Amino acid sequence: MSARLLNGNEIRDQIKAEVARDLAHLREAGICPGLSVILVGNDPASEIYTRNKSKTCKELGMFSERIELPSTITTEELLERVNDLNRRDEVDGILVQLPLPKQVDSKKVLLAVDPVKDVDGFHPINVGNLVTGRPGLVPCTPSGIIEILNRSQIPIEGARAVVIGRSDIVGKPIALLLMHRNATVTICHSKTRDLPGVCREADILVAALGKPGMVTAEFVKPGATVIDVGIGQLTRREDVERFFPGNEKKMKDFEAKGSTLIGDVDPSTVIPVAGALTPVPGGVGPLTIAMLMVNTVRAARLRRAPQLAPVPSA
Ligand code: NDP
Repeated sequence: MSARLLNGNEIRDQIKAEVARDLAHLREAGICPGLSVILVGNDPASEIYTRNKSKTCKELGMFSERIELPSTITTEELLERVNDLNRRDEVDGILVQLPLPKQVDSKKVLLAVDPVKDVDGFHPINVGNLVTGRPGLVPCTPSGIIEILNRSQIPIEGARAVVIGRSDIVGKPIALLLMHRNATVTICHSKTRDLPGVCREADILVAALGKPGMVTAEFVKPGATVIDVGIGQLTRREDVERFFPGNEKKMKDFEAKGSTLIGDVDPSTVIPVAGALTPVPGGVGPLTIAMLMVNTVRAARLRRAPQLAPVPSA
């Protein structure tokens, strides 16, 4: 057997096309959704992420702005900036790029974002909406995973799902989304006993643990769908050879950059056993920004035009 690779880039493009149609609809009603991204300091990864978010907004013809603030900012100064955005009517979505500098109280800042503009879905009000199945804003990566499963015709209802990882941004929300869709869900973490044995029960296995290549064939029931959320780096040639044997493209990428991407799944052993797998890169990753666009349009509709079309619950 060889797993079907689920193409996140194709699904992202479908979703972007749908967002573009939705935007045209809203524009006819005089609404131009807008996203503000706050970037504090100059962390290189955060700069790339925020640039890509702004670029996607522009591609779709959505208003976007990137607010760059110095790494010396205090919690109070940042709270003031968030409150400015809360008050501006043309701003539908506010995203505070994490991580924030050490002196800033991140929890306080995330709590200050108006829940109706919280396109990351991290505010406790939105977490509560998700838990209780009410309409709201759902974190982007987990909702992207649901899109991949749905659009790849992978049945969720009645499936046994195992999620490795219990973070607020991936593990917990994806477990809830799967449960709301009638999967029977188990959440695993670093204290789980017999992790491979629990994972082998899964029809759908979500790996969001942040441990490069740790999920091997031993974790996978034959034919299961494996969703690899991890984003890790390989920096040693022998690891690239072990995880990607005979993969010239991967080796070239490593030679050019001195590192190459890998998820939490070991593709060399899992591909022969799984029924379907999201590759890294090109699986879950592309959906995260697409779902941010979906959330921005949803936020605009919830706040400015609830009469146009109902927003479905999570
Ligand atoms: P966190 O570090 O916040 O959480 C990791 C979770 O995995 C924790 O619950 C931890 O358990 C669990 N875990 C860690 N090691 C093990 C282990 N050996 N066995 C079982 N469970 C373990 O990570 P995130 O949820 O933020 O991210 C997970 C991965 O997903 C990362 O690689 C990250 O880069 C990636 N990511 C990718 C995104 C995308 O767009 N594709 C978006 C967000 C994240 P415990 O709670 O017990 O410590």
